[in-house]
Amino acid sequence: MRAFRYRRPADVDEAVALLDADPEAAYLAGGTNLVDLMKLGVQRPDLLVDVTRLPLDTVETLPDGSLRVGATVRNSDLAAHPVVRRNYPVLARALLAAASGQVRNMATTGGNLLQRTRCVYFQDTGKACNKREPGTGCAARHGQNRDLAILGWSEQCVATHPSDLAVALAALDAVVEVAEVGGTREVPLVELYRSPGEHPEQETTLPRGALVTAVRIPPLPAAGRSAYLKVRDRASFAFAVGAVAAVLDLDAGVVRDVRLAYGAVAHRPWRALRAEAELRGRPFTPELAGRAADVELEAAVPLAHNAFKVPLVRAITVRALTQLAEAAA
Ligand code: SF4
Repeated sequence: MRAFRYRRPADVDEAVALLDADPEAAYLAGGTNLVDLMKLGVQRPDLLVDVTRLPLDTVETLPDGSLRVGATVRNSDLAAHPVVRRNYPVLARALLAAASGQVRNMATTGGNLLQRTRCVYFQDTGKACNKREPGTGCAARHGQNRDLAILGWSEQCVATHPSDLAVALAALDAVVEVAEVGGTREVPLVELYRSPGEHPEQETTLPRGALVTAVRIPPLPAAGRSAYLKVRDRASFAFAVGAVAAVLDLDAGVVRDVRLAYGAVAHRPWRALRAEAELRGRPFTPELAGRAADVELEAAVPLAHNAFKVPLVRAITVRALTQLAEAAA
């Protein structure tokens, strides 16, 4: 591992200034992804700016009913928070489906959202990877790509985003609060991430040095009835092969509102807006759920080893929505 310097800033402004001044600096939060990548030589920061002592570790309900989650709130604490468990079960379930208890005790909200892909070629410094080293090629495109994307990929990168939390937050229309040089701003979570395009090394829309300080989840009464289904190769401590976050609001059996997002299928959490449009205003049936998934998945272009993801995502869409509909009956 490359030797690095360590700083613990006194406040958010100092943290942002430290990152802005050093192009090889990185923020350190729970360290559950960054430290692994440093050991592998994939990331080689010369300065770690430790943000874990900044006052960003609270969960609060705002006057408008939104839930504001500080960026350093640990995944375990967020999953156990009574408001999350009651009002946003999709969020609690997504968090609890991720990693292990020990990792969730360390991992933070902001770090979870900004974790790097688990593409095995990205983690292997001996393999070509445009994300790790722009212009070197993509070993996964015609290599082992079973776990990788079916939607929105490019010839330059077929990686998926590994976060379960981001998928749930995409379905909930969450907004990310960001501090950067010159001030603060808010970014809808689905606009935080880029598609790979020609520059897969550019993963987010955040400028250099920007620090995620909080995530705000708008009030959504229907989210009290929500679900997260994750398919993985073993029962725990595994990344998703496919996942769906779903919120379903029925009025006398008719879909009044629905939110759907997919995980492990694209470079970003995939909000399934076309499926939602297909469902809204129609009497819910499992067949309708399947047709809605088909509409969304028309855009899917599987790779050599992951065509199975198309029927898998269809199946978990039907299962999640049907379970929610049955619970509402
Ligand atoms: Fe790298 Fe993306 Fe190709 Fe994986 S899929 S090897 S991360 S460029």
